[in-house]
Amino acid sequence: MQTDLFASATKQLEETAKLLDLDENILEILKNPKRILEASIPVKMDSGKIKVFKGFRVQHNDALGPFKGGIRYSPKADISEVKALAVWMTWKCAVVGIPLGGGKGGVIVDAKKLSSNELEKLSRGYIQAFADFIGPQKDIPAPDMYTTPKIMAWMMDEFSKIKGYNVPGVVTGKPLEIGGIKGRGHATSNGGIFVLEKTLEKLKMGKKTKIAIQGFGNAGSYAAETLENMGYEIIAVSDSKGGIMINQKAYCLNIKKIIKFKKETGSVVGFTGAKTISNEQLLRIDADALIPAAMENVITKKNAGQIKAKLIIELANGPVSPEADKILEKNGVTVMPDILANSGGVIVSYFELVQNSQNYYWTEKENIKKLKTIIEGAFDKIWTKKLELNVSARMAAYAIAVECVATAEKLRRGL
Ligand code: NAD
Repeated sequence: MQTDLFASATKQLEETAKLLDLDENILEILKNPKRILEASIPVKMDSGKIKVFKGFRVQHNDALGPFKGGIRYSPKADISEVKALAVWMTWKCAVVGIPLGGGKGGVIVDAKKLSSNELEKLSRGYIQAFADFIGPQKDIPAPDMYTTPKIMAWMMDEFSKIKGYNVPGVVTGKPLEIGGIKGRGHATSNGGIFVLEKTLEKLKMGKKTKIAIQGFGNAGSYAAETLENMGYEIIAVSDSKGGIMINQKAYCLNIKKIIKFKKETGSVVGFTGAKTISNEQLLRIDADALIPAAMENVITKKNAGQIKAKLIIELANGPVSPEADKILEKNGVTVMPDILANSGGVIVSYFELVQNSQNYYWTEKENIKKLKTIIEGAFDKIWTKKLELNVSARMAAYAIAVECVATAEKLRRGL
């Protein structure tokens, strides 16, 4: 059964509005995306046949700045999911204080089944369909699930052709050679690790923290690699095919070797010397910190009561359902919410946009330093708010974000 993610996002907003005693007129504006676009994108397939794909772009709110958010290619992409992700982008940008709004895109397609030629035509078609509504000052797409820097290059090229001049800032997540940014690959995991370290400090937990990570893609594998280099003990990892955990003899996994193994075999499962577990078992493992870095709604009311970790860092978007959130809070589990924990990606995308507009590029070290300053500053504000209101970190983050967007709406509308 497909969960209605937009209903979850709306519920979160309504709870925050109650906490803030938010003006009902503002709530009404924030509950509804400003624009919902749908297009039919015809692609001449390699067989010579025309196939029409459904594409979406949802623009939730731009009170703080142009809409910003990725485009996902997925056979399961649906409008409720894209709307929810657009809403979460609005809160994410607001909570970390970057001058951007929230948007998201999607195409219903199994990208793995398309040839490179078909994928290029689809990506250019997406831009042709939405060209009037995007641009560096309007709405800036980026990669998401199954969309890559290569796809961003095609999209940037198509938009530039339509305009008749180079517009690198129309999308972020581009290859370095055409206006991409140094350090984008590790930005989400780096941001999550800055949040993890700040939380461990607050909870007075040390470096001996045992960590389990679900998902071994961009966010999860980079986090595992960096955490290993920093001396943390990774005791379990997983991907879509299943998970692995330490056996009795080892105290942690060898992540570098697992990365190599996954490259060769396509999965972490089967790695020599580790015990095979399911994704469900990984979530319930006896770890100090759990990092969901795969997909939404993996911790629900069904398994939330069995989570042993004291801390959850949401690298994935929406991995904990609202019902599960309440159970975890009651059990004293600290959850650092996605809108902060995985904001490293959009923060660095914002730097990419700034650098494109100035045609001046910073070093990777500068990018990471600036990312750290922004995300740690946002963490401090959230933690202070959490203590002030005596609420969860998620509620505190939402309170800050919603208040910020609501104030911008009021100022702009003269309310
Ligand atoms: P990815 O496609 O690179 O990796 C996803 C990983 O999850 C893969 O290892 C895949 O095997 C695994 N996976 C898929 N289905 C699974 C399942 N049912 N159980 C367990 N594992 C499963 O994606 P990514 O970029 O790493 O994104 C992961 C999550 O992080 C998503 O929720 C995404 O929205 C979020 N996120 C990513 C970024 C980023 O910059 N990459 C930024 C913000 C949020």
